[in-house]
Amino acid sequence: MRNLLLAALLFTAVILLCGQGAESAPRPARPLPAVEHVVILIVDGLRPDVLLLSETPAMHGMIRDGAYTMWARTTDMAVTLPSCTSLLTAVKPAKHRVSWNTSQPASGQLYPAVPTVLGMATEAGYVTALVAGKSKFAALAKPGTVTHVFVPDTAKCSDEQVAAEAVKIIESAKPALICIHFPGPDAVGHEKGWGSPEQLAQLVKTDVQIALVLAALDRAEIRDSTVVLLTADHGGTGKGHGADDMRSRHIPWVVAGPGVKPGYDLTQDAKLQVNTEDTGATVCWLLGLPRPLYFDGKPVTAAFVQ
Ligand SMILES: [Zn+2]
Repeated sequence: MRNLLLAALLFTAVILLCGQGAESAPRPARPLPAVEHVVILIVDGLRPDVLLLSETPAMHGMIRDGAYTMWARTTDMAVTLPSCTSLLTAVKPAKHRVSWNTSQPASGQLYPAVPTVLGMATEAGYVTALVAGKSKFAALAKPGTVTHVFVPDTAKCSDEQVAAEAVKIIESAKPALICIHFPGPDAVGHEKGWGSPEQLAQLVKTDVQIALVLAALDRAEIRDSTVVLLTADHGGTGKGHGADDMRSRHIPWVVAGPGVKPGYDLTQDAKLQVNTEDTGATVCWLLGLPRPLYFDGKPVTAAFVQ
């Protein structure tokens, strides 16, 4: 009888220990413990001056409440996939080697030569997500490296669909890191021109979708522990964008949330140049992930109160 009781106790203890292990996967120590979640918003083709001229309360609210620069720079290629890969790997295209900007066939999908911060965070035990409006983003979601992935089967989908998928994931999984890409403003830029009234009108629509994502953070009760980073893959001019054109290379870089200096213009530090690779490095810093020596990006710690 005593043996049976002991066995039962031992069994219960093992179950409890296993349960504990599953619930509290080891997480790295973070420099700002209040920051438990990071949301990256990439608005495709968002040129800083077009953003400032647009009637976009959600994005303007982030500028008002957060730290920002309208003089950040994307890669010298200034096209979506190589630039977003730099944003998410913290290295320049020469190191990640994603020089293509097209969808790959599923059977022959190619991936960056270095891990994404999504992959690094997943490996560290975090729940991660990628929701993108263009199919070519499959290159940034190597199987096993991101917990939740939405990438359209067709070339692209709407900002509305992107927001709906992101909202579902935020409410059900409360990811520690989610990257959300809105394709709308780039599509209108190619059709009607950068800075056109039509693109300004599209930004209003995209902003409504961003507001829905922010509201989901409220419903999931993680808004107070989430840093939101708003940026772009490139700007544009005429009906296009590309290399060696500053109107294509300048991007906004806005960060808001716990620990962020409110209403702080990062250009107050004349020596600080924010580049798109710094987004990945900043995410690693916030989530307590290692920053390998090969990184080109550095964390933008000047945006945070320390
Ligand atoms: Zn484009």
